[in-house]
Amino acid sequence: MYTSSNTDNMKKVSILIPMYNEQEVLPALFNRLSDLMDGNPSYMWEVVMVNDGSTDATAAKALQMHKRDSRFHFVDLSRNYGKEIAMMAGFDFVSGDCAVIMDADLQHPPEVIPSMIAQWENGYDDVYGRRITRGKEPWLRKRLSLLYYTLLQKTTKIPILENVGDFRLLDRSCIEALKKIRETHRYTKGLFCYIGFKKTDVPFEQADREAGQTKWNFLKLLGLAIEGITSYTTVPLRLATVAGFAVSICALMYLIYIFVKTLIVGENVAGFPTLMVTILFLGGLTLLTLGIMGEYIGRIFNETKQRPVYFVREVDGNRYCQKEKDESQKSDS
Ligand code: UDP
Ligand code: MG
Repeated sequence: MYTSSNTDNMKKVSILIPMYNEQEVLPALFNRLSDLMDGNPSYMWEVVMVNDGSTDATAAKALQMHKRDSRFHFVDLSRNYGKEIAMMAGFDFVSGDCAVIMDADLQHPPEVIPSMIAQWENGYDDVYGRRITRGKEPWLRKRLSLLYYTLLQKTTKIPILENVGDFRLLDRSCIEALKKIRETHRYTKGLFCYIGFKKTDVPFEQADREAGQTKWNFLKLLGLAIEGITSYTTVPLRLATVAGFAVSICALMYLIYIFVKTLIVGENVAGFPTLMVTILFLGGLTLLTLGIMGEYIGRIFNETKQRPVYFVREVDGNRYCQKEKDESQKSDS
């Protein structure tokens, strides 16, 4: 399955789906994708479902899907690594001339895929879905997410597109580029922009989640947000320097003021509140700066370990030996 030597001239389209506890939605997903593939026989199709350590019956159901229809493949990760890494595992396993990434919950309608393929045939390498509606989403989350993108946009040199999620078609050349980026702290949305290539968009209406629940809570989203900032920009470090500098200048001016004042009018011991406020303010600022530096140092620490980013347990229901893959990757390069 995972060789890129597609013998006949027919192009092969892979659909890559990371899934975590998605048992409720799998039957609908199976039907919608089968309809799509049957309706477009001019392409060879492959669906690669990456099970990201689900704790429900997702694995068993995905395996059933593979048994029912051999176009559906199933990669079982050894534990939950998070969507970003599940996507990366998927890149290693898809064999198509292009791959479409979509969510399992059908918020990304498979019916849009043919128009993405049409743009790919027009010569684009990276065809991303642009949401014209965001589906059902809490008001605060929507606001915060928009604010975040504006901030990220302003602080990074790489333009990160608004209202664009992970629903996109990538040409083989983009997939190979992404496979070369093997950092543990991943913010794939930024990576898509980072790799460049010829991009265009296809609008789509984001549906509501078909079944089951969202896997993101506020903390997870906050984590992803911090990931996004720290992996693309060192502006927070710069801000810390600027703040440090500004405070020092103020302190120096205050010092001169006190010095002069003491010379002219003398000094009686007072000013305890001012002292407290200054100490607390500076203490807070120091801790904040240390925290920011810590975020970056933590990332250096994790990346220097150079651990494999993920482990695979099974592929299509068979035990998977990591060695095979490593060796085939070596012989590829
Ligand atoms: N997902 C994953 N691993 C995780 C969390 C989520 O593979 O740890 C998958 C999930 O199964 C779905 C996609 O990522 O296919 C998007 O997740 P979800 O729909 O919960 O996010 P939302 O649409 O609410 O942002
Ligand atoms: Mg969703």
